[in-house]
Amino acid sequence: MSGLDEALNHAEICARETRRLVIEAGARHRAAEAFAGLFAGEQAVVVADERTFEAAGREVFEGFRRAGRPASGPVLFPPDIVAEDARVLELQSALEGLPGIPVVVGSGTLNDLTKLASHRLGRPYMVVATAASMDGYTAFGASILHEGSKQTFACPAPVAVLADLDVIARAPREMNAAGYADLLAKNVAGADWILADAAGVEPIDGRVWEMVHGPFRSWVESPAGIARGEPPALGRLVLGLMTTGLAMQEARSSRPASGAEHQFSHLWDMQHHIHGGSAPSHGFKVGIGTLASLALHEDLLGRDLQDLDVDRAVGRWPTLGQIEERIGVVLGTGSLGAKAVEEARAKYPTREQLRSQLASACNGWPASRARLARHLIPARDARDMLRAAGCPTEPEQIGIDRDRLRASFEQASYIRRRFTILDLMQRLNLMAPAMERLFGPEGAWPVQD
Ligand SMILES: [Zn+2]
Repeated sequence: MSGLDEALNHAEICARETRRLVIEAGARHRAAEAFAGLFAGEQAVVVADERTFEAAGREVFEGFRRAGRPASGPVLFPPDIVAEDARVLELQSALEGLPGIPVVVGSGTLNDLTKLASHRLGRPYMVVATAASMDGYTAFGASILHEGSKQTFACPAPVAVLADLDVIARAPREMNAAGYADLLAKNVAGADWILADAAGVEPIDGRVWEMVHGPFRSWVESPAGIARGEPPALGRLVLGLMTTGLAMQEARSSRPASGAEHQFSHLWDMQHHIHGGSAPSHGFKVGIGTLASLALHEDLLGRDLQDLDVDRAVGRWPTLGQIEERIGVVLGTGSLGAKAVEEARAKYPTREQLRSQLASACNGWPASRARLARHLIPARDARDMLRAAGCPTEPEQIGIDRDRLRASFEQASYIRRRFTILDLMQRLNLMAPAMERLFGPEGAWPVQD
C-alpha cells in the first residue's frame, strides 16, 4: 500500500479546497472523528437518500451520536433522484432550518446537490462516498440540470472526502463500472491536451499533468477486479477518480479530466437521450465517447501532418456564418443549436489564428506524434478493458446506432468551446476521410448500406 499512501499524500498536498481525503475499508466509521478534526465545535447535518442511508448513512449518523455530538437531520431524499434545480432548492430550504455543516452520504447526484446547496448557504461540506461512479466528488463545480440542460455551477469542492471501500464494494456493479469508464477517459483528455498544446491553444500545465498521467496506468490496470468488486482494484479506481478531481481543483478547469470523449456524453445529455426508459449513466456514455475518440486519434496518428498543405486548409476554412448555418442543420435552431452557436463562436479562430495553429501543429508533428504514440491506449485495448470492467463497448448498448454515432462526431465538436481532436480534425480538413475510414468496412463501426 505504500504507493497508495504516497499518491494520497501527493494528492492532499495538491488540493486547494479538499483538506482531508480518506480511502479505506470502514471509512464511514471515521466520519465523526474526521468532522471534529476539521470543524471543531460545529454541528453536522446528515444528508442522504433512502438507499445510501441504509448503505452507510445510518452508521454515519449513529457515529456522531456515539462521539457525543449528535448530527441534525437526516435530510432524506427518495432514491434515484435527478440533480436538478428543484432538488437544489429543496435541499437549500431543508438546510436553512438545520444550522450546521452538511455531511452528505452518497455519490454523484447527492454530492452535486449538496455541493451547490451548501455553497449557496455559505457553508462548507463533507462527503462520504458510497460508489466509485464518477470523478466529480472532489471537483470544483456541481453538474446540475438547469432549464433542461446539464450545466456546471461554480462552487467549491468538499473540505473532506471519505471513501469507504466496504460500502463501495457493495454498490451496484454498474456504478463502479461507470466510474472506471470515466477514469479510463482521462487517456483521451490527456491526448487532446497534447494536441491543444501542440496547436498553441492551451499549454500543458506540467504539475497538473503529472498528477493524473503519472500514476494513471496503475489506476486502470485491473478492470476485472472492478467487475468482481475487489477492494484493492476499487481502491485504485477511487484514488484515480479523487485525484483527477483534485487536478481539476488545481487547474480550476476540467481540462485535465475532460476532452472529446466527454463532449459525446454532453451532446447525448443535451439531446435528452434515453435508452430502456432512462438516461444511460455518465460513465457509460463517456466510455463509448472514449472509444470513438481513441479511434479518431488513431486515424490522426496514421497521417503525416508535415506533408499537409496548411494554406489549402486555411483557404477552405468556413466563415463563422457558414458554421452557424451548419449548426442549424445538424443541431437545429432550438436551445441546443443556440448553445452550440455560442460555444462555436467562442472558439472560432480568425484565418491568421488558424494558420498559426495549423503551422504549429504540423511543424511540431514528429514530436507530438511520438508523444501521443507513447501516451494513447490502443482503442482495441481500451475496448477490452471496458468490457472486463463490465461497461458497454458498442454504441448500440447505450441506444446509439452507428449513423447517430457518426453524426455525433461533428455535432459534439460544436457544443463545447474546449479545443479537442474534433476541432483539429475539422480545421485540418481530415474529419470526412476519418469518418469514411471509421465507418467503412475496415473500421471500428462498419455501416452496411
Ligand atoms: Zn466525467
